[in-house]
Amino acid sequence: MTKIGVYPGSFDPVTFGHLDIIKRALKIFDKVIVAVAHNTDKSPLFDVTERVKLLKRSLKGIKRVEIDDFDGLVVEYVKRKKAYVVIRGLRMISDFEYEFQMALTNRKLSSSIETIFMMPSESYSYLSSKLIKEAASLGASLKGFVPHLVEKAIKKKWDL
Ligand code: ADP
Repeated sequence: MTKIGVYPGSFDPVTFGHLDIIKRALKIFDKVIVAVAHNTDKSPLFDVTERVKLLKRSLKGIKRVEIDDFDGLVVEYVKRKKAYVVIRGLRMISDFEYEFQMALTNRKLSSSIETIFMMPSESYSYLSSKLIKEAASLGASLKGFVPHLVEKAIKKKWDL
């Protein structure tokens, strides 16, 4: 049986932190589905098609990864994909409360779905999409935070 892990999130945009989690997850799962959420309440910088495209380009050449988008409940999407594991990244203790609430809510919604948490390399444990957008808007270089193609896409969006 193929072990599938679903990694849902906004990915607005993908960072080296997300890519680190995906690569670690590939050591555990036969296939990792990166699922880009439509219904983010964070008014994204990139629309869902752009976020999917940036992920695909950032993961070019890496096998056993599928990039998809989804609408609605994560647990329903996971079931549609014939999977039962949700992967989430845990950076700091500050992530814990929200992630804990969400994992328990998902368990209540569907007791057959399990959530696993993975830690990135410590060099990415402070990195967030929000932070890199802020840094870019102030003119910072994003080298070491996001792939070059993502940095270019952000700067193009804002005409920087
Ligand atoms: P969401 O809006 O669902 O939190 P994000 O794209 O911000 O979407 O994050 C998706 C997942 O990736 C979350 O579990 C988040 O904690 C995790 N994540 C984000 N940045 C990092 C990082 N630098 N290292 C490890 N995990 C991360």
